[in-house]
Amino acid sequence: MEAMIGNTKLLFIRGDITEQDTRAIVNAANSGLLGGGGVDGAIHRAGGPQILEECKQIRSTKGICPAGQAVITGAGRLKADYVIHTVGPIWSGGGGGEDELLRQAYANSLKLAVKNGVKTISFPSISTGAYRFPRDRAAAIAVKAVYEFVKESAAIDEVRFVLFNDDILKAFELAWEKLGCAGDSRDC
Ligand code: ADP
Repeated sequence: MEAMIGNTKLLFIRGDITEQDTRAIVNAANSGLLGGGGVDGAIHRAGGPQILEECKQIRSTKGICPAGQAVITGAGRLKADYVIHTVGPIWSGGGGGEDELLRQAYANSLKLAVKNGVKTISFPSISTGAYRFPRDRAAAIAVKAVYEFVKESAAIDEVRFVLFNDDILKAFELAWEKLGCAGDSRDC
């Protein structure tokens, strides 16, 4: 599915984020920044050791990356030029500010993209794997966070949600429809 928010193209696709040719891809990292499973492991495997080297440097100068924050590295062998590593919240029932931290993870990734001149960016579904955030709730927060950011900023040309299976793709498409901007290529 495809939509426009002002001049920003929004794409919902099923796929593997490591294969995307947007200028940046976002990694659902953990606070330690030293790699992990899921999408994090896939990005490091496909991108090669350069990404981990840069993460280690960030870790030694700035320390850990708290939930909701983001850092940027090169992308090693990937098609993208940058990996933006953001840390989503670990779901613990919803009373620990998880919704707001998830929103911040998307917003701070976009902020860092703009700061680095990145105009095209791919996101995975942050926190919905090992961190167990409920899928539909996470999808609603993700699409709203991106919508609110890009409607205020002309700096991003394309945001791609790259969803790993049909269920999560459907959840994101439905969340977009519920936000009230739905319809293929219909302007928002
Ligand atoms: P978290 O720890 O933030 O929950 P995970 O990597 O465990 O992160 O899962 C986040 C989402 O990323 C899940 O929906 C998972 O299916 C998906 N995912 C895993 N590998 C990839 C990939 N290569 N490309 C896109 N999404 C992926």
